[in-house]
Amino acid sequence: MVEEQLIPRGITDQATLEAMLTVPRHLFVEDAMQARAYGDHPLPIGSGQTISQPYIVALMTQALELQGHERVLEIGTGSGYQAAVLSRICERVYTIERIDSLLGKARKIFDRLHYHNIVSRIDDGTTGWPDEAPFDAILVTAGGPKIPEPLVKQLGDPGRLVIPVGDQQVQELQLITKENGDISTRIIEQVRFVNLIGTHGWRD
Ligand code: SAM
Repeated sequence: MVEEQLIPRGITDQATLEAMLTVPRHLFVEDAMQARAYGDHPLPIGSGQTISQPYIVALMTQALELQGHERVLEIGTGSGYQAAVLSRICERVYTIERIDSLLGKARKIFDRLHYHNIVSRIDDGTTGWPDEAPFDAILVTAGGPKIPEPLVKQLGDPGRLVIPVGDQQVQELQLITKENGDISTRIIEQVRFVNLIGTHGWRD
């Protein structure tokens, strides 16, 4: 996966590559899917949701430019795989999921792997996690119509926020950077994500 899918497509961040070599992706998919866990595609994880393609996980992780000391907020725990990758290269991951059954499964895997620097809760992640803000980095793994304002407020300075923004078919993966009070936006590439549903996302 790392040699054939990530490095040839320009993933160069060593911490991201090492984390993706370390985290056992097959544990985050159902038994029937395990043989396909390292393939170059997303996979269904139940409740109409998906675990993202490995390249997209790597691209989003790399864009955060993590050094190791950061507190990172993830919106959309899903299978837990992205949170697990982040947890190997930052201080602490705060992850929010709106579907109970998915978070229950993800928590069991975090425990099994002894990934104790991941904290999680059920909520509408479009409102962020105000009690724990500010965050050094925020990663949204579902596509919304706009950037949720609470997330921009809860982003530290300096801080990096990565989020797919667009319609329900296709989105632009955006990197929002906050530095000395200035906010800038860069488009990374076109992506396709499941819907970000909530107060500052799509309606259920
Ligand atoms: N990061 C996940 C992984 O590694 O498996 C992939 C997540 S999947 C593409 C998107 C997830 O976002 C789904 O599990 C969905 O339920 C969740 N989601 C959508 N809207 C949400 C919201 N407002 N708050 C929290 N989670 C949300």
